[in-house]
Amino acid sequence: MRTLRTIRNCRRWKARCSRTWDSLVETDEPRVRFCDGCEKNVYFCSTDAETIEHALAGDCVAREEPAREELPRMVIGRPRVPIQVTPTQREARVWNKRERGIDKVLDGRVEASRRCPSCSYPVLSFRKTCYVCGHEVGRAE
Ligand SMILES: [Zn+2]
Repeated sequence: MRTLRTIRNCRRWKARCSRTWDSLVETDEPRVRFCDGCEKNVYFCSTDAETIEHALAGDCVAREEPAREELPRMVIGRPRVPIQVTPTQREARVWNKRERGIDKVLDGRVEASRRCPSCSYPVLSFRKTCYVCGHEVGRAE
């Protein structure tokens, strides 16, 4: 599957930073690159634990996600021929949905106060369910 490495937890933007890992300046560390827009290091994270650790430290994080062309096509209305979704497209859709949930958690204001017992991503205090895995966490005290 073709993938893209996107930037998360950047405090500079309200929306997600539009840069990709490939556009950042290489450093001596293969998993660390420098963003000359924010003048900050960006840490490539391949696991959730690394992602959470760097996000809580306030770092910009890069994560891999499926390239847009891997996702099933969006259709408006009812197509004459039903759209076939391949297993790879289905996998890309599930992966993409999870990454969009992670985006919502890592919006530059991540807080450690509450963690999801299922996936261990932080859960914002007003949420009753985890953005990442959908686990019911109930309201914060
Ligand atoms: Zn969760």
